[in-house]
Amino acid sequence: MRCRLCGSDQLVSVLDLGATPPCERFLAEEELDCPEPTYPLHLRLCEHCLLLQLPALITPEDTFVEYAYFSSFSDSWVEHAKTFVERTNRRLGLGDGSFVIEVASNDGYLLQHVVASGVRCVGVEPSVNVGAAARERGVPTVTAFLDETTASHIRSEHGPADLVIANNVYAHVPDLVGFTKAMRTLMSDTGWLSIEVHHAQNLVALGQFDTIYHEHFQYYTVHSAMRALAIGDLALVDVELLETHGGSIRLWARPTASAGVPTERVHQALAMEEAAGLHEVDGYLNLRRRTEAIRHALLRFLLDCRAQGKRVVGYGAPGKGNTLLNYCGIRSDLIEYIVDRNPYKHGRFTPGTRIPIHETQRIATDRPDVVIALPWNLEIELTEQLAYIGEWGAELIFPLPTLHKAELGRRQLSGAAR
Ligand SMILES: [Zn+2]
Repeated sequence: MRCRLCGSDQLVSVLDLGATPPCERFLAEEELDCPEPTYPLHLRLCEHCLLLQLPALITPEDTFVEYAYFSSFSDSWVEHAKTFVERTNRRLGLGDGSFVIEVASNDGYLLQHVVASGVRCVGVEPSVNVGAAARERGVPTVTAFLDETTASHIRSEHGPADLVIANNVYAHVPDLVGFTKAMRTLMSDTGWLSIEVHHAQNLVALGQFDTIYHEHFQYYTVHSAMRALAIGDLALVDVELLETHGGSIRLWARPTASAGVPTERVHQALAMEEAAGLHEVDGYLNLRRRTEAIRHALLRFLLDCRAQGKRVVGYGAPGKGNTLLNYCGIRSDLIEYIVDRNPYKHGRFTPGTRIPIHETQRIATDRPDVVIALPWNLEIELTEQLAYIGEWGAELIFPLPTLHKAELGRRQLSGAAR
C-alpha cells in the first residue's frame, strides 16, 4: 500500500473497523438471500504527509451510478446551502456574467439557489438518478465523474469558472491527484475554489468513527488539505470552521499565482491542529480507544433496553449509520427497525445488518419506548422533529460523541406528530 497523495509506503494503522458492505448498498427484499460482499474498513495514516486514508477497494463508479443520498431530504442542509450561496455571491461579487460550477452537485439542493440569484451555473453529478432530480428542479447538470478529461470538456463548452464549489466530495475521490488538477482546470486563473469537507480533527478528538466508510477515501486536516491542493497548483487562502456533519472545514483556495497571503484564520486553524497533536503520528492513536468506548456504551444501553422489555427503533438511515451498526454488531433484535424520510429506502434493509427501513410515520403509529438517532450530527434538527415522541414518554438517544438522551422540552411537546 502506498499513500495516494505522496506515494510513501509508510502507512500506520489508526483504526480497524473490521469488514463491512458498502454503506449505501441498501438491500431490496429479494436480495436478502443473495451473497453480500464485504470489504475491510481499516483507516491508516501516512507518516510522511499525514493524510488519513482508506485503500480504494470499491470505485465511485460502483457507488454512484444509482445513489440513494438526496441532499434535499435534510432541511438544515438545504438551508445551509442557501446561506452559503447568499454569502458567497456577496463575498466574491458574483452576478450577471459570472459562472459557477458545482462538482458533485447532487439533486441541485445548492445550485437551485445560484439559479435563483441569476448567476449562470452548471452542476457535475455522476449519479444518473440524482442528476435527473436536479434537472427537474431547473438546475443544468452534466452527468459525469470529474476527472482531467471531463474537466477539459466542460471548460471548452462552458468557459472557465469564477467559482468552483466542491462540497462533501473531496473525501470521495480515490484519484486525489487527478481530481485536484481537474478542479484547477475548471477555474479561471483568478477564480476561486470552495471546498467543504469533514474535519479530521473532529473525527479524532470526538471519536466520529462512523464518518469512516469505503466511499470516504481520505480524511483531511487543514494541514493535509493544503498539501493536496498544492498538487493542483492551488493555494489555501482562507478557512472557516463549520458545524455541519459534526464539524467540517470550508477551504477557500485560488491558483497559486493569484492567491496572495493566507488569512489569520488559516494560521489559527493550523495552530489548533498542532495543539491537538495532529501534526504528528501520535496524536491519531487515541481514536481506537475512543471508538471502542462508544461501541461498548451503545451495546450496554441496547442490551439494558432489551432486558427491560423496551421497544427500540432507529431514526435515519444515513450511510454512516451503517458503519456504526456493522461495527457495533447491532441487528433487529436490538433495533427493531429504522425510519427514514427518503422514500428510496422504504422497504429496503440496511447493508450487512439487514434492519428493515420504514417511513417516518411508523413511529407515531407504533409509539416505541426509545428512538436512537443515527444521524447524530443533526441533533438540533432531529430533537425538534421528534419532539412529539415525548407525548408518550419515549426517549430520544444520540450515540455520539458520548451516548446521551435529548432534552425533549416542554415547548417542543406541543409540536404536532408528523
Ligand atoms: Zn503521504
